[in-house]
Amino acid sequence: MNNLQHPVSYITGMTTNRASLLLQELGVRTCNDFLHLFPFRYIDKTTFYKINQLQNSQAEVQVIGKITQIKTVKQQRGSRLVATFIDETGTMELVWFKGVKWIKDSLKINTPYVVYGKLNSYNNSFSIAHPEMELLTAHQKKIHSSMQPVYPSTETLTNKGFSNKVYRTLMQNLFVQINGRFEETLPNSLLQSEQLISKREAMLNIHFPKSQELLAKAHTRLKFEELFFIQLQLLRKKLIRQSKFKGFVFENVGTHFNNFYKEHLPFDLTNAQKRVLKEIRKDVASGVHMNRLLQGDVGSGKTIVALLSMLLAIDNGFQAALIAPTEILATQHYNALAEMVTPLGLSISLLTGSVKAKQRRIIHQQLEEGSLHILVGTHALLEDKVQFQNLGIAIIDEQHRFGVAQRSKMWQKGNVALKLPPHILVMTATPIPRTLAMSLYGDLDISVIDELPPGRKEVKTVHRYDSNRLAVFKFLKDEIAKGRQVYVVYPLIQESAAMDYKDLMDGYESISRDFPQPQYQISIVHGKMKPEDKEYEMQRFVKGETHIMVATTVIEVGVNVPNASVMVVESSERFGLSQLHQLRGRVGRGADQSFCILMTDFKLSDDAKIRLKTMVDTSDGFQIAEVDLKLRGPGNLMGTQQSGVVNLKIADLVKDTAILTKARNMAMAILQDDADLSKPENSLLKKTYTELQKRQGLWANIS
Ligand code: ADP
Ligand code: MG
Repeated sequence: MNNLQHPVSYITGMTTNRASLLLQELGVRTCNDFLHLFPFRYIDKTTFYKINQLQNSQAEVQVIGKITQIKTVKQQRGSRLVATFIDETGTMELVWFKGVKWIKDSLKINTPYVVYGKLNSYNNSFSIAHPEMELLTAHQKKIHSSMQPVYPSTETLTNKGFSNKVYRTLMQNLFVQINGRFEETLPNSLLQSEQLISKREAMLNIHFPKSQELLAKAHTRLKFEELFFIQLQLLRKKLIRQSKFKGFVFENVGTHFNNFYKEHLPFDLTNAQKRVLKEIRKDVASGVHMNRLLQGDVGSGKTIVALLSMLLAIDNGFQAALIAPTEILATQHYNALAEMVTPLGLSISLLTGSVKAKQRRIIHQQLEEGSLHILVGTHALLEDKVQFQNLGIAIIDEQHRFGVAQRSKMWQKGNVALKLPPHILVMTATPIPRTLAMSLYGDLDISVIDELPPGRKEVKTVHRYDSNRLAVFKFLKDEIAKGRQVYVVYPLIQESAAMDYKDLMDGYESISRDFPQPQYQISIVHGKMKPEDKEYEMQRFVKGETHIMVATTVIEVGVNVPNASVMVVESSERFGLSQLHQLRGRVGRGADQSFCILMTDFKLSDDAKIRLKTMVDTSDGFQIAEVDLKLRGPGNLMGTQQSGVVNLKIADLVKDTAILTKARNMAMAILQDDADLSKPENSLLKKTYTELQKRQGLWANIS
């Protein structure tokens, strides 16, 4: 056994207490784990800043200057000490809240100091609170080590005396004990072609950087390594799936497909739709099981692609299923699809929680006999009782709303006799940035519809304050007078559901006052209503009987009312970007110019300002997703929490796109040449790969 697999107690100076703290707080068990706690920053005491070089982003800075003035400022409790600190380029402040009197007496005026501390900025002026101070003359007499690592910590660790100094000492001890024996994980050829430094050099310099330059190289090397092995695993998983999982072969492009394509297609497909369809056709004819993610912005026309894929299955003697996360959405899919497939002589049914037992039995029977071609439904479709005779393709809409367990149920509904899963097409209108898609779904095939149907007008988006409400209402009245319909949406956030409900009801009342009956008719839909009442209200709006739909975000997904041309989002600062984008997608579906009005209070956080500005500036879902990723980080994006792929130790999916792309390409090239990593030059890779696989166990085959 290599030293690094020893428990941390192996490290000189690691008491039992400290070891159990590390385990409890950071999950650190072995020396190797400890070594992979990378410093998240370095204290650089070799650089001095001039005051006019200071920037918001700098965390800790070191400045040489003089104090010109000291004053005590009374505040609510006690007082604070403020010193004016200058160098030849500018002025800043040093501030103390504690020990004011003692510090005041010890400070020397007009004497050069070296000050060091965390920089705060306020109204373009900078300050440091409780700086470390040293007279320049004293400072010059000492030897100064360069960058000191600062390690991640927790409150408990700090409180129990596990300080950064303790970390550093233990780390130093460990380095001495193992004497730099780090095993290389990447083959020499790769190190050379990518100009990466060795593992040993990288580990040494990440913990004890010799220079900024070597630190940067250490970062690159370790990030590459981390991303490379993730990609290697994902891509290999995909290879295994493709070689192991046979799929149904849809050999023929048959009568139904051709008949529909030639005679009944309601519009010409966009080039993007055609391309995606070609990708799907290639998959399902190949004999390999299809597991494809179809990304396409709201309104990009995913449904028709789904339908044509289903027709391919039916033409080859299979059944097809489409599952959606909500009853409203499933019903809408059912209506749209029924209209298109009934003229072809195909049978289609809807299965949701509210389908009566009698009708359910009929559906079950028709499915088992094979006389039902298409089943559309909600989660009800996943129940064990629902058995298909021969399910050839399953389409999952808004896949992020389904868990892995639910998706795996879908896999099991193929053909029992043949033991093959149906082809899977998952559709999402939540664009996932490329970098994230590569890490999250690297083992799925991805298709993208990146083009909207022609003639679609961009939704005009504006940001308005609550104080502009009268003008906004006037605008709504003008639109309604033109025959249009309007959505007014209120936030619904679980933790304060009661308050949100009150906001919604207050809003509804105020709208009822400003838009009086009988001239104006208003629908309201929210989560506390019975499904049949909800449906009734929805239908009134769909049929155009009501002018305004007041709702919570239940209407977020998929609802299609082409005549609705205005989306008003109340308290829009409380919505996330992807949610706002989804909401805006509810309008702009008809021929008229549509509008999205984002209402807010005056008080806005910086993030909220960026979100609103992004919405006003662009309607490109991918661009919006990129901003979202930057604001919230990958861990908070939909569906990423469970994946674990984004639990990165050092790489950053937002910033390290270039490294990620390289790592993926290298992994792909290596696997293309040596799928089993059995060639001698890949033995190092195989070793690490095998260890990683052992550690996390192979995930389920379901992505
Ligand atoms: P989404 O991708 O959001 O599911 P839909 O499939 O619901 O989008 O399509 C949105 C609207 O655009 C529908 O009314 C659909 O009939 C229409 N549509 C789809 N593709 C085209 C096209 N190629 N040309 C014109 N209209 C289209
Ligand atoms: Mg859709």
